[in-house]
Amino acid sequence: MKHQPIDFLNLQAVNARYGDELERAMQRVVSSGWYLHGQETAAFEREFAQFVGVAHCIGVGNGLDALTLVLQAWKDLEQWDDGDEVIVPANTFVATALAVSRIGLRPVFCDCRLDDALLDVASAEAVVSNRTRCIIPVHMYGRVCDMRAVNELAARHGLKVLEDACQAHGACGHANDACCAAEAHPSRSESASDVSCRRKPMAGSLADAAAFSFYPGKNLGALGDGGAVTTSDDRLADYVRTLGNYGARRKYVHEQLGFNSRLDELQAAALRVKLRGLVADNDSRRALAQRYDVLLAGVNGLQLPPAAGGAMSSDCVYHIYPVRVRHRDRVQQSLADCGIQTLIHYPVPLHQQKAYAEYASLSFPHAELWARTELSLPISPVLTEQEVDVVAAALRSLLAQDEASFLG
Ligand SMILES: *Cc1c(COP(=O)(O)O)cnc(C)c1O
Repeated sequence: MKHQPIDFLNLQAVNARYGDELERAMQRVVSSGWYLHGQETAAFEREFAQFVGVAHCIGVGNGLDALTLVLQAWKDLEQWDDGDEVIVPANTFVATALAVSRIGLRPVFCDCRLDDALLDVASAEAVVSNRTRCIIPVHMYGRVCDMRAVNELAARHGLKVLEDACQAHGACGHANDACCAAEAHPSRSESASDVSCRRKPMAGSLADAAAFSFYPGKNLGALGDGGAVTTSDDRLADYVRTLGNYGARRKYVHEQLGFNSRLDELQAAALRVKLRGLVADNDSRRALAQRYDVLLAGVNGLQLPPAAGGAMSSDCVYHIYPVRVRHRDRVQQSLADCGIQTLIHYPVPLHQQKAYAEYASLSFPHAELWARTELSLPISPVLTEQEVDVVAAALRSLLAQDEASFLG
């Protein structure tokens, strides 16, 4: 090994760039004497709502809670029954499905597309039943789902759409998503339909509501747990806020069987600092992804994510740079032997998890193929071009050797 070890994600370095500002923000909260439901949280909610382009942001405890609170709010407001169904891709992080299961609804899995791991709308439509109430498109790896198709499917069947935007802070949809979302949901506010067709609308503003996580490793990461719901639906926003505050609009007056889920002042203060750097951080990730695209083009046995860019495409923020590779586990071990850390997102699809044993007989070929072959290469705003070069060279030479060993 002729180079320093390369971390998948060096969080210490990510946050060190904001060192002084973060420390001042923490100090401000400590000396304010006010730690929950205060000015920092209110300010972050305003700033993040404006960033995403929605009327409301409600800070909550984490991404799982953000998903759960929206679903519980709809269950109450729309009078969904226990056992009503929510469509979830089989290849997401477990939280997407857990939010459904936890409140007595039933996740119904569908497959993803082969090329980009995003929700396959035809596969989703095939599992719609008369008990389906909602669909959760997940913007996997920082790439926005085909929201025009998802919203049209939902309109055809009268479903709610909840974006899982936990990996997609600052990612943009396709240029025409906002217009078609406004058409499919005529109840949406003026501001959504006013958006020019040419301006690319942002993840979190592309459906009825969205859930974000600020887990430290996300593109916008706190210094602990945090999450948010975004929506332009006034009634939903009010209900979610109440539900996350013990079901109380006023202290000790409980209208619903609520939850305790709050974004605290320390996390909100840190997130306000880091939100100001998010666009630049995402630009850095995109530049590194493009470098991988070029350096790894045409390597045998290696599938790259579709290249981002172009006026009509969505703008990916590369939370992950996912490749698919033959003999994945062996390749991962060999990279580790060269001091290069990679991860797998995710090794077991949800229908094959023990927690979801009742779905074990189902088969989702694309989700299963992704689970078997996906490898997440290092990517972060503090990774250098030189480090990308080292990773790409190592991967190239490993796969060339692999090829040779097959021929020989
Ligand atoms: C991170 C993540 C979540 C959950 O977020 P937490 O804050 O850890 O609860 C949900 N869905 C997806 C797709 C995620 O990546």
